[in-house]
Amino acid sequence: MSIDSPLDQRLRAELERLRAADLYRMRRVVDGVHGVRLRVEGRDCLNFCSNDYLGLAGDERVAEAARRALTGSGTGSGASALITGYNVEHRRLEEALAEFTGYPRVLLFTSGWAANCGVLRGLLSRQDTLIADELNHASLIDGGRLSGATYRRVAHADGAGFRTALSAAKNPDGQTLTLAVTDSVFSMDGDLAPLPQIAALCREHGAALMTDDAHGFGVLGDRGRGGNELLGTRPDIYVATMGKSLGTAGAFVAGSETLIEYLIQRARSFVFSTAPPPAIAAAAREALRIIQAEPERRARLQLNIARFVRGATQLGIRLGPPEGSPASPVTSGHEFSLVPIQPLVIGDAARTMAVSRALFERGFWVAGIRPPTVPAGTSRLRITLSATHEAAHVDALLDAMRACGLGSRPLAA
Ligand SMILES: *Cc1c(COP(=O)(O)O)cnc(C)c1O
Repeated sequence: MSIDSPLDQRLRAELERLRAADLYRMRRVVDGVHGVRLRVEGRDCLNFCSNDYLGLAGDERVAEAARRALTGSGTGSGASALITGYNVEHRRLEEALAEFTGYPRVLLFTSGWAANCGVLRGLLSRQDTLIADELNHASLIDGGRLSGATYRRVAHADGAGFRTALSAAKNPDGQTLTLAVTDSVFSMDGDLAPLPQIAALCREHGAALMTDDAHGFGVLGDRGRGGNELLGTRPDIYVATMGKSLGTAGAFVAGSETLIEYLIQRARSFVFSTAPPPAIAAAAREALRIIQAEPERRARLQLNIARFVRGATQLGIRLGPPEGSPASPVTSGHEFSLVPIQPLVIGDAARTMAVSRALFERGFWVAGIRPPTVPAGTSRLRITLSATHEAAHVDALLDAMRACGLGSRPLAA
């Protein structure tokens, strides 16, 4: 029998605590191309929990663009973009993203995590103030903490909370920066930030605004320009990722010439990290072309969302943020169901995982989400729709949900 080191003993105790609390996490191994049909550990299932909202992660044209770039540019970029890592494929993608988003310039990062941490740590110092929605993505929380700035947490989607925090942020000598930051689409609740209101408040108080549009980019708005297009806003700092609707990897920051030049000097996750593989940039550029050329993908996604929400409602299943969540004005209308993230809050972590397992047994992969990803007592199934689901897939999921005891309507005899 091997003897645990003191380190392992310590870790084992924590792992046992997680297991006892039903918070232990495991990975399932996927074999093959990502899509709505997945081969997982020897069985086939329908995937209802990825962020590949437009079905581009397995698109042959995107893969072909990557293959061509692999032939032309090889696998690695060899160094940080400031040394030898800035390939013509990166520059082409930055230019295409700037044109698409309508910002003067764009800077690529290896991930959304790196982008958010790099921007916040790079822009803010101890005398500055960051005002942040409490349900912001973990990378925004970590980046904000890392910066050393005063961190003012605002209740979720609470415009009035932003107003109070902005009024309290003092800038007597005009030397300190106040930055408000919010997800535009919240990744676990599927609701929208009250961005028009927050943007107006920022203007009024001379504060800067940053949004993380990881789940809106490519999906929302007639042209797929995301939270900005849907809500008519234009934050100073716009972050979106390419691992979700673009089906590839990495992230970008869009903003002014000055912002991007500053980040090139000061964003540590950009400066001290190897540039992403050129082939990934080429693939993302092809995906960006497709989301512009094929608006029918967004239309199909909307049909699938509507079909699922309608069916769940008929079964008496309540979707959406936890009871008592302060729905912002923009989420109270029809906009809520524009978002492909449809949470089904169960509450208890053990029960959530049991339902998730029961669905998996029936061939449906719907992830259970537990603390610390969501607040205690709000464990949930996070159901996501994709443009490449068929109507029959959605109907089959609804049947399986009913068979697993979700919803108030009994099984038909
Ligand atoms: C996924 C996600 C990120 C992180 O992006 P990665 O590229 O996966 O590191 C950041 N913000 C939000 C809101 C996200 O959903």
